Amino acid sequence: MSQWPAVLRAPCPWCGETMEVILDRPDDTATRVEDCAVCCHPAQASISAGPDGAIRLDLEPAD
Ligand SMILES: [Zn+2]
Repeated sequence: MSQWPAVLRAPCPWCGETMEVILDRPDDTATRVEDCAVCCHPAQASISAGPDGAIRLDLEPAD
């Protein structure tokens, strides 16, 4: 992935709809909470970069 900002997508852990998380820079990998645009539940987004440079997005339910 070489274009920034990048849009990462993963299924909402609440409703299953695709959520988008904007990643501004390659090192912008801090955990953050994003609200689902469909069901409005908060999801904790964990962004990590693999050794091959691939960006991985994981969403988990957040309180
Ligand atoms: Zn949702």
